Parts: sequence; C-alpha cells; structure tokens
Amino acid sequence: MVAMLEPELCEKGATIETVLDTPEGKRILTCIQCGMCAGTCPYGEYMDYPPRRIINMLRRGFIEEVFKSDSMLRCVACYACMSKCPRGIRLSDVLLPIVKEQTLINQPEIPAELQKTLQNTLRYGNPMGESSRKRVNWATANGTKVPIMAEIKRPVDVLWFVECYTAYYQRGQDNSRAVAKLFNALGIDFAILGNEEKCAGDCGQLTWESGLFETLTDYNMEIFKKYKFNRIVTGDAHAFNAFRIRYPMYGFNYPVEHTTGLFARCLPQLKPKLTKKLNYTVTYHDACCLGRRAGLYDEPRDLLLAIPGIKLVEMTHNRVNSICCGGGGGGMWLDTFFKQKGMERLSERRVKEAIATGADVIAVSCPYEIYRFEDALKVIPHDKPIIVRDVVELLAEALGD
Ligand code: SF4
Ligand code: SF4
Repeated sequence: MVAMLEPELCEKGATIETVLDTPEGKRILTCIQCGMCAGTCPYGEYMDYPPRRIINMLRRGFIEEVFKSDSMLRCVACYACMSKCPRGIRLSDVLLPIVKEQTLINQPEIPAELQKTLQNTLRYGNPMGESSRKRVNWATANGTKVPIMAEIKRPVDVLWFVECYTAYYQRGQDNSRAVAKLFNALGIDFAILGNEEKCAGDCGQLTWESGLFETLTDYNMEIFKKYKFNRIVTGDAHAFNAFRIRYPMYGFNYPVEHTTGLFARCLPQLKPKLTKKLNYTVTYHDACCLGRRAGLYDEPRDLLLAIPGIKLVEMTHNRVNSICCGGGGGGMWLDTFFKQKGMERLSERRVKEAIATGADVIAVSCPYEIYRFEDALKVIPHDKPIIVRDVVELLAEALGD
C-alpha cells in the first residue's frame, strides 16, 4: 500500500516552502548525507546537483542555485535513489518534482523536443500530437472489435485504460491487441473509453508540468464519472503509476491494476490455455514504475515461466537494481538533449546487458520500453538476433489461434 501524498505536494504553485511544511517534506531534512542516492543514480555522474547535494544546498539556503542548474532535466524519474534512501525520503515523489518544475522555469530554454511534447499533450491529449479522433482506430481496424463504453451503454467489470503509445503507435497497438486477446480468453467483461480517453499525464507530472497534469487529471476524472465499472486496468506502467500515486489526491478511489498483476492473479485460469510452446530464452527488464515503485517483480517472471518452452535468464542488474530504460520523467523526449550533453542513452546501457545474457528476447512491461530498446538495438552491435516483446505479447502468442 502506498502512503498517500498530501494535496499540498501536488497542487500547481506548490513551492519548496509549502512542501517542507508537510510531514513528507519535513522528512527531507532528516537526510544524513550518506550519498546512497547519488551513488545509485544512473545519471548521477552527469548532475551537478544529485539528490544529496540538492538537500545540502536547501539546508544552506542556496536552493536557487540548484534551480538554475539543468541537473534535474537529467533525472529520468527511475526511483532508484528513493528505493535506496536509508531515511525513507520520498525523493522522486516529493522533492525532485518540485526541483524539476523550478528548473524548467529557470532554464533559458526548454529542450525543443520536450517542449513540443508538453504542448501536444495539452492541445491534443497525447504526446505525439495525434488527433483525439484517431485514438480508437486500433480497436476497430483489421477485424479487431473492442467494446467501447459509450457504445455498449452498460456497466462493465473492467474499464481498460489503454493510454497513448498503446493506442497510436504500431508496436504499442500490438500490445493492445494482445491484451484484448487475453481479456477475451479469460472471459473478462471489459470496455475502453475510446476517443474519450486522454493521456493520464504521468510524465507531465514527473517533468513537473503540474498545470498540465492537473488539466489531464480533471478531464479523465470527469470521464470516469460518466460510466459504471468495478475497477480500472491499464497496460501502461506510467498510467498505473499516476492512478496509484497522484490521482487519489484528486478524489480518485477506483481499484487499479496493471495488466501484469491482473494476469498473474489469473494464472490458474490462464496457464492451461497457454498451449503453444515458445522456444525462447528470455531476459526480463523491470520497468521502474512496476518494479521499484510498485514491487511487481515476481508477477511478470511468473507469467513468463508459465509459457511452455520459455527459459528465463537475468541481466546483471535486475529487480530493485534494474537500470532504467531512460524514458521516464520526460526522458522519452530528451534524447537529443542528452546526446548534446555527452550522456550515454540508458536504453543502450541496458540492451548491452541484455545481449550479454545470450537471450533471444528482451521482455518488457511498459510501452515506452519497446521503442527505447528496439531503437537501442539498431546501434548496439550484437551477433545473435535479439528482439523486444511485451510480456502480454508473449502470453498472447502462447495462447495460439
Ligand atoms: S540516500 Fe537519503 S539520507 Fe542518504 S544522502 Fe540521499 S537523501 Fe540523504
Ligand atoms: S529518480 Fe533516478 S534519475 Fe532521478 S535523481 Fe533519482 S536515481 Fe537519479
């Protein structure tokens, strides 16, 4: 169970002072300057102000200097620092978003790619700037028939929140078709919002564009109120994160599950249906929002091991020590900025580890990772073929036809 965050921490206009007035904020000042956070940060060596130094500057009254630095633009919201802090300081939930927002305000210019994404999300409800009218196209194309709430006009058990990459991009749509196939195989009563859905806003929040996040939250909360359902399920690790951690501050109180957790719970019913043997050696990449942030380490591995023929091998960094794909906290749209700063793409660091395992497949459970790893594999040399697949794609393949 995640401890609730106080509303003062999420409202637009929250400042370092208002944060320090809350119990979670006060905990920041209990820092013992051990440096575990900086040492574990995958981009710590590129930051003038990693978390330990931010707190030091805060105590000494020099926090404005931190805001002028671009250190926090290099934070990919991977939760590694927070997971290792011996004082239990919620760095990625509480301190870093505030510092990020102030960093964005104080930069002479925001990296163009990120700026465009934030504008697109505000204007169109998705980071890619696609028409909201096309959001549902994947669900009706090529004979696919996915129930849509506005059309079926009845309560459902599961409201499936699809999200942006899984609605608009081809490889994300593969994920969505796999989820639909699995829901149908399990006899789950579900429907989607279709064109009424907008981005859940997790990355808007984690880049601390708080106004954008509030706009998206208010919108989605109104849409949820239109319909009757028992629970929300999403295959997007970031939407799952937003619904668990931030939306409750706005009155969201629906049970929410990630598809990985749901399908793992349904394994007694699902496993007998996984009849097709897949002779793959698979290595699983722990998504930050599912692993470090939600403790879902065993569930995706249990699902993979339930597929006949799959052999699971681990990368050097796994579970709590997994290396981020580099896509969180706005990192998805900062590759050009990172390159200009001479920073290695974390997705490249990660696929090198995956290649070293000898696996045929990198299994993932966050839609961002498909793009990041497929892209990284184009530039990292490897002798043996290796592909990227979402866990749900492998499950759907094992269902057979
Ligand atoms: S790990 Fe926690 S206690 Fe240690 S320096 Fe970082 S914030 Fe402070
Ligand atoms: S959230 Fe990750 S990238 Fe950001 S400061 Fe912490 S360890 Fe570094």
